Amino acid sequence: MLRVRFHGRGGHGMKTASRILGTAAFRSGLFAQDSPVYGAERRGAPIAAFTRIDRTLVLERGSIAAPDIVVIADDSLLDDPLVAPLSGLAPDGILILNSANPAEAVRERYSIPEGVRVFTLDVTETAQRILGHRAAVSAAMGALSCRAAGIADDAALSAAREELSEIGLPEALIRKNEELARACLAAADVPPLTVDRPGAPEPSVPLSVPAYDDPTVGTPSVYAPGNMPLRKTGGWRTVRPVIDLALCNQCWICFVRCPEGAISLDEKDNPHIDYDHCKGCLICVEECPTKAVAEEKEVRTW
Ligand code: SF4
Ligand code: SF4
Repeated sequence: MLRVRFHGRGGHGMKTASRILGTAAFRSGLFAQDSPVYGAERRGAPIAAFTRIDRTLVLERGSIAAPDIVVIADDSLLDDPLVAPLSGLAPDGILILNSANPAEAVRERYSIPEGVRVFTLDVTETAQRILGHRAAVSAAMGALSCRAAGIADDAALSAAREELSEIGLPEALIRKNEELARACLAAADVPPLTVDRPGAPEPSVPLSVPAYDDPTVGTPSVYAPGNMPLRKTGGWRTVRPVIDLALCNQCWICFVRCPEGAISLDEKDNPHIDYDHCKGCLICVEECPTKAVAEEKEVRTW
C-alpha cells in the first residue's frame, strides 16, 4: 500500500488534489481511498487530506501518521508546529513541496534524511504565469502526487479534469489547470514509489469506532473570552496586501470586510494592516474600490 498525506491551506485545493490521486489510481485499476480533515471552513487555515492506494481492498481507515509520500502546497506550513507536515514521513519516502527554495536548502533546514527524495517547484509562480493569477493548485499538486506514486501522467490529467469538472470549474479554467499540471509534470524529476515497494510501514492507525458524547456535551457553547489575537495568522500568508495611501479615499471598506480584523484605522481614517494577523486572503484587494491595495508575493528564502 502507498499512503500519501497532503497538507495545504483552505483555498489551495488540497482536498481536490487528494481526490485526483485517488481517482487516477482507481481508473488505473487500483483500489483507492481518500479523505480530508479540517476544522471550521476558513480560508488560509491548515488542512490535511489522505489518500491510500493498493492492489487489494483498502481496509485501513483514519488519518495517515506514517506516509510514504507527503505533498505540501505551501512551504510556510513547514514552520507551523501545529501542522508538523514532515512527521512520520518514511525514511525512503518522497516529499513534494510547492516552494521557491531549492530541495537541498529544504533538506538542510529541516534535517530531512538523505533517503527521502525531496522535490521542490514554485507551483504558485507557475500558476501565476499560466493562469494569470494565483489560483488553487489542486490540479498541479494532484498530478505531482500521481507522478510520485507511479501513476501514469495521462491518468493523472484525466482525473484532474474529472475532479475539476465535478466541482463546477468552467471548461476554459479546466484547460488552463491542465496546462499548469503538464508544466509541473514536465519539471518533475521524481523517481516514483510504487504500491508494490517492499518495506512499506505497517498500518499505524488502527480502525477505530468513534464514541459519541451526550448531546449536552457536544452542543457548542463558548465560555472562554475571545483569543483570536493569540493565533498569529500572518504565517499563513503567501501573498501580502500593501496599501498605497495616496490612492486611498478612506472609505473603510477594507476595514469592514477583513475577516481577521487585521486592518485598523488611524485618526485620519487611513487603513493600516497588522501583518502579524493578516492571513493574505486578499479580500481587501478585491474589495478596494480605488485599487489602493496591491498584492506582493511573500517570499521566504533561506
Ligand atoms: S488585511 Fe486583507 S489580505 Fe489580510 S486578512 Fe485582511 S482582508 Fe485578508
Ligand atoms: S478599501 Fe481601499 S480606498 Fe477604502 S479605505 Fe481601504 S484602501 Fe482605502
